[in-house]
Amino acid sequence: MTTDILIVGSGCSGLYCALHLPKDKKVLIITKSDSKSSDSYLAQGGICVLRDEDDFESFFEDTMKAGHYENDKESVSIMINSSRDVIEDLVDYGVDFSRNEDGSFNYTKEGAHSRSRILFHKDITGKEITSKLMARVKERENISILEHTTLLDIVEKDGECVGAVVELSDGKTHLIGAEYTVLACGGLGGLYKHSTNFRHLTGDALAISAKHGVELKNMNYIQIHPTTFYSEEKEDRSFLISESVRGEGAKLYNKDMEQFVNELLPRDVVTNAIEKQMEKDGAEFVWEDLRTIPEDELLEHFPNIVQHCKEKNYDVTKECIPVVPAQHYFMGGIKVDYESKTSMAGLYAIGETACNGVHGRNRLASNSLLESLVFAKRAAADMTKKPRTVCELPKVDLSVYDDREALKKEYRKIVLDEIKKGEREDMKNV
Ligand SMILES: Cc1cc2nc3c(=O)[nH]c(=O)nc-3n(C[C@H](O)[C@H](O)[C@H](O)COP(=O)(O)OP(=O)(O)OC[C@H]3O[C@@H](n4cnc5c(N)ncnc54)[C@H](O)[C@@H]3O)c2cc1C
Repeated sequence: MTTDILIVGSGCSGLYCALHLPKDKKVLIITKSDSKSSDSYLAQGGICVLRDEDDFESFFEDTMKAGHYENDKESVSIMINSSRDVIEDLVDYGVDFSRNEDGSFNYTKEGAHSRSRILFHKDITGKEITSKLMARVKERENISILEHTTLLDIVEKDGECVGAVVELSDGKTHLIGAEYTVLACGGLGGLYKHSTNFRHLTGDALAISAKHGVELKNMNYIQIHPTTFYSEEKEDRSFLISESVRGEGAKLYNKDMEQFVNELLPRDVVTNAIEKQMEKDGAEFVWEDLRTIPEDELLEHFPNIVQHCKEKNYDVTKECIPVVPAQHYFMGGIKVDYESKTSMAGLYAIGETACNGVHGRNRLASNSLLESLVFAKRAAADMTKKPRTVCELPKVDLSVYDDREALKKEYRKIVLDEIKKGEREDMKNV
């Protein structure tokens, strides 16, 4: 099998990248599960945008401050300056953001933002964006999607990436030759017991990259979200209580129903405060009060959250809900430049699996969808500028991939070891 461009992942970064590749290029998207099972579909709060030129400095400062000033400044500038262009694309694709009566955008706010600059669609912004991207992808004859097809490895020839080894939906192992391969595999929450991520997102691209000596960066920069719904039942995925409810006024209480933290501080600070409070209270959760948000706004802006809590027997208009921190996002990843190129020729990485340094040590709310789209588009532009010829694939012994369970274990270990290595290096710098 050969294609011009192979994109691994059908989240927002993979789809948006595909849409920006020339129509005369054969683009193949493969995805480990069904095409809708990506974290991009789960995004609740929204997507940041530069509201006007006057907002640049404060947007930049909010991003840097949340990231503990470890962010790559050029990446941050590129992201902010490209944000309006991306939003225009999304609106052209049919994305419906919340608007005021006069038709202007209705912006919301989340923790650590000094101004309302987040566009949203109820509390299902990710679904709205990603389903529209998917619809546009399906209209394009040059793009095809293979579901339930897993990247097992990349194929390297003379130090360059020339394609991939994949497991097709029938369980068979195949080689795909490609001019360019783009890793758009999302985060690594599936490695954690409690995470808001889909379970099949296990950092495969990180393990495969490490195995081939592709550079990684900030592997221990893992974001724990302060507020997911606490449940005594065993849940496949922790349900997120979006930070935008705190942006709209929700409060956090300890066991005595007293406030113990400024709810609008950056995520890592609020998470630490909750963890300390839980320890002090000897409790497995703290309380979140959404009743501080006017009821009509609560029902209109956050129907998905209200419904989820209702299913768990909590009426958020009348009572507090129990919340607990859980793994949520990965700021580190495969090291890429401003065009999303990895350290291996022929290989790009975009979205959550990539690290261009934009988030520093801690991501500012609603910067992830934006960053994924901005740098996916740049990757597409770069590949378009420099077409490569698909080279003949080298001989690959496919039997080494037969034991899938052993491979899974090996990849899991590689990623966890890289995280520990990052932690050790961090300690040395303290
Ligand atoms: C509950 C939740 C709420 C969020 N809310 C927001 C928000 O409001 N605003 C915001 O900016 N961000 C938010 N985020 C973060 C944001 O959604 C993600 O960071 C972003 O969508 C990542 O997009 P992506 O394209 O990189 O990856 P994903 O959308 O996760 O897609 C990854 C894709 O890679 C595929 N894949 C993985 N491994 C393999 C493999 N080995 N072979 C083949 N395919 C593979 C998966 O099947 C999937 O299709 C939220 C995240 C979660 C979990």
